[in-house]
Amino acid sequence: MLSLAKNAPDQLLAPGSDLRALIDRGLKSSFWQLRLPEGLERQYLSDSIEARVLHTQRAGWFALFVFNAFLVVDWLMAADVFWQSVLIRIGVFSPLGMAILLNAERLVRTGKTRDWVSVSDWMSLLSGWAAALSLAVILWMSHSPWVHYCHAGFLVIVIYGNLVQKLRFPFAIVFSAGVLAVHGAGVALTANFPPAIRMAMVLMLLVTVSFTLVANYLLERATRRRYLLAQRDAQMVDELSALNAQLQRLSRSDVLTGVANRRHFQAHLQEAVSRTRGSDAALSLLIMDVDHFKAYNDRYGHPAGDECLRQVALALQGDLRHPADMVARFGGEEFVVVMQEADEAAALIAAERLRQAVEALHMRHEGSECSAVVTVSVGTATLCPRGEAAVADRLLSHADRALYEAKRGGRNQVRAYRHA
Ligand code: GH3
Ligand code: MG
Ligand code: MG
Repeated sequence: MLSLAKNAPDQLLAPGSDLRALIDRGLKSSFWQLRLPEGLERQYLSDSIEARVLHTQRAGWFALFVFNAFLVVDWLMAADVFWQSVLIRIGVFSPLGMAILLNAERLVRTGKTRDWVSVSDWMSLLSGWAAALSLAVILWMSHSPWVHYCHAGFLVIVIYGNLVQKLRFPFAIVFSAGVLAVHGAGVALTANFPPAIRMAMVLMLLVTVSFTLVANYLLERATRRRYLLAQRDAQMVDELSALNAQLQRLSRSDVLTGVANRRHFQAHLQEAVSRTRGSDAALSLLIMDVDHFKAYNDRYGHPAGDECLRQVALALQGDLRHPADMVARFGGEEFVVVMQEADEAAALIAAERLRQAVEALHMRHEGSECSAVVTVSVGTATLCPRGEAAVADRLLSHADRALYEAKRGGRNQVRAYRHA
């Protein structure tokens, strides 16, 4: 199996180059513009090298078989040099061709990174020229009265290079010119070439060259456009995935504070309940409410209130200790924290730590009746979800009840829910 290491796209495309713009430019290019925009051209060659070499090899083996099958024609039309043509086709051309085909991958590797495809094209081109030369020698040696018709073999060779091997267009032109030259020399060197047949052969070859070059151009253009369209599709998929990820992030976070929003919190709490249900572990929920926040807004203005909520959210977020714990904005000036595998004692410790973290922000709050700075009241609730129903709802109502107690007790304090 062929395995030519491909270059990473970022090595080929200049950093910062706008791939989408390059692709669009390539797709809008005129009919006569075969080359893709710089950067994309190298990417295209690099991406197509494996398929290209594989094709060269497969088409090469097939052509080698056909080339030798033409011995039948030699036998019928140029019997006087049949053994010489056996020697040329089977003794010289075939071993050479086989050696090249068997080592195609290694040969291609010897090319400099950018020239891999060229090496592959050169292999096809030279094999075609070698076939043309072999045919020319056989025809030159023969004195059979039918040998002139064998010049039709050059048509087959042109078709091989331009269509079967699908040489890149510039190579196809060079290749065709070479075959025309060999044929021209062959015709010139052949004595007693009937002028009518010579004319017919030269014309047929010229027409075949023209037609196959047109077809070659169209084929290559179509291949390159297909590549551009595939690249554009891949790019669109990438962009959509990135947008999707961004949308998901946005739909889960609170616009003002950046912490998880209520929807994300609810989903997270349900997940935490299901996960904890499988064990004997406890699940805790903390609800925090900024004390006298209405007064804060009234005194310092709504924008300052917003900034205060952001600072509180940051403080809470920064003070979580366990990676699985999550802080979310429940609404207004209320925040919640889900603590997995945390019993009541652990929840109380965390709640007190979070309360202190907010207090430590030292945000002046002259409208507060319980402190000179912004503070929070915290209610905690703990349940062991195993075997329990409606755990999420009960945790919420218990924590809310505890929060109410904390407020009733004078605010800026922590209370755990107590079963009556
Ligand atoms: P308590 O100590 O009893 O909790 O009183 P409180 O004033 O904190 O609570 P209350 O429920 O009376 O008022 C909450 C205030 O929070 C009222 C509302 O305008 C304000 N608020 C809610 N959401 C936002 C917000 O996104 N930004 C700002 N700046 N204020 C908000
Ligand atoms: Mg409130
Ligand atoms: Mg409040």
